[in-house]
Amino acid sequence: MNNILVYLEIEENSKVADISLELLSKGRKLANELHCSLEALAIGHNLADIAKEVFPYGVDFLHLADSKELYPYITSLHAKIYQHVIKKIKPQIALTGATSIGRDLAPRVSSSLEVGLTADCTDLVIGDYNDRKEKKIYENLLYQIRPAFGGNIIATIVNPQTKPQMATVREGVMKKEIVAEDYQGKIIKIDAKSLTDNFKNPVKIISRKIEAKKVNFGGAGVIVAGGFGVGSKENFEKLYQLAEVLNAEVGATRAAVDAGFAPHERQIGQTGVTVRPKLYIACGISGAIQHTAGMEGSSQIISINTDPNAPINTIADYAIVGDLNTVIPKLIKSYKDQSK
Ligand code: FAD
Repeated sequence: MNNILVYLEIEENSKVADISLELLSKGRKLANELHCSLEALAIGHNLADIAKEVFPYGVDFLHLADSKELYPYITSLHAKIYQHVIKKIKPQIALTGATSIGRDLAPRVSSSLEVGLTADCTDLVIGDYNDRKEKKIYENLLYQIRPAFGGNIIATIVNPQTKPQMATVREGVMKKEIVAEDYQGKIIKIDAKSLTDNFKNPVKIISRKIEAKKVNFGGAGVIVAGGFGVGSKENFEKLYQLAEVLNAEVGATRAAVDAGFAPHERQIGQTGVTVRPKLYIACGISGAIQHTAGMEGSSQIISINTDPNAPINTIADYAIVGDLNTVIPKLIKSYKDQSK
């Protein structure tokens, strides 16, 4: 059985992005199920330490294209090398993060190879597909699972006809899991020079500025999120105060963002980010499917809502039925008293 390939996104400090480590973790599980190997592709510059970083995630083969002109990311060059590796190793599955880079790169590669691509998956599972029209059963396909029709249904998409089965996956939906610190993989160097020679970049980069992330959901063990029930931008301050005592990050629903209570980068859910903190405190949030799709992987959920029948309570571990305007100050006082 052919292998699984994960495209690694490399950040400014030559570190592998979290999304890629999440994909490797999922890729390893899928590879175990399919009895095949897990391969990774790193394209960039100064990649000497990448192997140490990714082998513990169970990578069997690491393809390295290390060359000055490959960093920062350039669509055409990265696409060329990605295609080259796919043509060479013929993976059955190729995974890319649903990030700005992944959303730019994966469609280029899939269209040039004339294979299908499912964007923004939230889960990947192996399964069979019975094509009744063709009277044929396709075994061990990749079920590419993602919300569809405004998040009202969860669609399972299969691609039986062409290989690799390509998918981009949303950040934060899969867990990073190390297999073994001393996992032994093999490095395969790509002759990047022969692929990039004579390359004339059609894009002229005049200046490049990397903005520090304003919101760090990935590193947050606790998220205090507010919904439309918070009532105003001013009242959102209460959530920031609670977040401060809990060393938490602040999130918001789309309704709260649309109402101007919180900035867009804090939006959690189907059209925002996906989070899975240890603790998620949902304040004045009803629990619409488009919101819960982005936070139901949290280890513990506490809801604070005046409505005992709010849908969020069906997924909450603890539901505090009450007005957030009285509950949040009490929580802040209680945490402060306890930490004295
Ligand atoms: P509401 O549904 O209005 O709920 C407010 C809650 O606050 C109620 O349960 C109420 O009982 C409670 N409340 C009121 N006052 C208080 C108080 N004083 N104390 C305590 N509780 C109080 N939504 C997202 O969040 N993220 C997304 O990414 C997203 N993407 C979407 C994509 C599409 C295509 C569509 C169609 C919708 C999307 N939505 C998304 C919107 C989603 O459907 C809901 O409209 C939204 O999540 C509701 O936000 P809310 O819970 O803050 O507001």
